[in-house]
Amino acid sequence: MEITRTESVDVVIAGARCAGSAAAIGFRRAGRSVLAVDRSRFPSDTLSTHVNFPSAVAEIQAIGALDRVLAYDPPRCYHGMVEADGARCLQKFAAVDGIDYGICLPRPELDMALVETAREAGAEIREHTSLEKVLWSGGRVSGVVIREDDGSYTQVNCKLLVGADGRRSTTAKLVGAERPYRGSRNERGCAFWYMDDPQVGTVWRERLIQLRSGPTHALIFPTPNNRVLCLFMGPAVDIPKFRADPEGMWEAMLEENPAVRVRLGGATNFTKLRSTGDNVAFFRRSSGPGWALAGDAGHFKDPIIGQGIRDAIRFGRLLGEACGPVLDDPNACDAASRSVEARRDRECNATYHWGNRESRAFSVTPLIKEALADLDGCDPPRLLHMFDRIQAPHHVLNPLRGGKYVAKAMLQRGADRKAVLREALTEITIDRGAWREQLRPKFRSTRITQSERADYDWPPKTPSDPARARRAAPAIAVEPELQSAFEPESTVTA
Ligand SMILES: Cc1cc2nc3c(=O)[nH]c(=O)nc-3n(C[C@H](O)[C@H](O)[C@H](O)COP(=O)(O)OP(=O)(O)OC[C@H]3O[C@@H](n4cnc5c(N)ncnc54)[C@H](O)[C@@H]3O)c2cc1C
Repeated sequence: MEITRTESVDVVIAGARCAGSAAAIGFRRAGRSVLAVDRSRFPSDTLSTHVNFPSAVAEIQAIGALDRVLAYDPPRCYHGMVEADGARCLQKFAAVDGIDYGICLPRPELDMALVETAREAGAEIREHTSLEKVLWSGGRVSGVVIREDDGSYTQVNCKLLVGADGRRSTTAKLVGAERPYRGSRNERGCAFWYMDDPQVGTVWRERLIQLRSGPTHALIFPTPNNRVLCLFMGPAVDIPKFRADPEGMWEAMLEENPAVRVRLGGATNFTKLRSTGDNVAFFRRSSGPGWALAGDAGHFKDPIIGQGIRDAIRFGRLLGEACGPVLDDPNACDAASRSVEARRDRECNATYHWGNRESRAFSVTPLIKEALADLDGCDPPRLLHMFDRIQAPHHVLNPLRGGKYVAKAMLQRGADRKAVLREALTEITIDRGAWREQLRPKFRSTRITQSERADYDWPPKTPSDPARARRAAPAIAVEPELQSAFEPESTVTA
């Protein structure tokens, strides 16, 4: 690795999508010089179903990117709906910082808007450029080596390195924080297409919906240009079937879940299927001497609850705002990045447990149906409050409400009371873990709580035999244009 140039900036950021652009904007607000490198070019896609609830749109607004995002004209969705075998809960979103609608804008456009906003704020964003090596001095990160677009290597000296380089973070690897200190195996996979929306001009265009039937959830989000995204999240072991026979699986899903047929029957002009079975949720150590991790690099939760973009933007911005003013004092800077990590964990913990809970490949149960029927149309919209982080799931589905649902489910004609009680017990145990962590938070706790399936593979592996396949999720399969964000890190020889 022959270094041909040396530069100096205040902050180097690896990765320039949600977390990277937001962090760049935060540091620029403190007047710091920022170089963000990304091995992708923009606009480009990355594997995501990119729904943003109002609290995520509010984060986009907080970094000043909302006008650019809305210029792509994503349908504004004022309602959210969850339906499970006929039990429906439809609610209107409450406003978060004045935003009372969600959107679903594909990543090429969303990320382009973020990158342009960061550039306008004064950050330099170098595309097709990758972080290759971290340089240390006196036990602190003091700079990096990057591989430029033309293949040459540049040394960049900096006061802080931010790794916003996604789940397979090179930064995490290079600073020795790659292995999560806690995580949870996901039992669900993701398979999705974009298609022409057969319901243009109807109320469905302003609803973000989840339709449950059997073990598979269908999530349907309107996107710009009269398109719509349909995502199936079922048992991870079904993902190979989606890949082998996408058309057959589409028909099978319409059969299994008639509500999907009502919403999307007759849809045409499908894209190629996109899918993944690799959704291990995790927390990594996310701050250290002269370095910090932002976005998925530091923490990933199950996509089923659609919270990753919001958190990547929020905690990226907060990192920049907290560390920017104290960057010249190494101890103060490290303390600030550590406090942002602690804040992220405090704010994300309940949602992490909720994601783990939802990522069990369970079928619709009587308790779920009772909960949906009870919360339908309620004001305030408590179900949507969970998606908007206004109320924690264990507060909404609290012991009082839980007791009511158990009683009602037990009184249903033909109820399997033992099964209802078993489910109630499992849920109570999970809630107990969430309450304990809320009441007695412990920084970087490694204590396994009841929502976690701690037998996850790290790094996630492709299962080789059926018994293993049931335990571990299949590897990612992505289209070539999505490859850059997921391919193994390139190795560079000195
Ligand atoms: C299937 C799926 C569906 C999802 N659906 C949703 C959803 O509906 N809503 C939601 O809110 N969240 C969703 N998420 C999560 C969401 O996509 C992520 O939380 C979000 O993209 C995190 O942003 P980020 O900036 O941290 O990382 P990323 O978006 O992964 O960006 C990382 C960037 O780092 C770059 N990079 C990597 N290595 C290097 C390197 N060595 N040098 C330079 N650059 C590098 C990559 O090129 C990439 O551009 C989903 C995730 C998955 C997997």
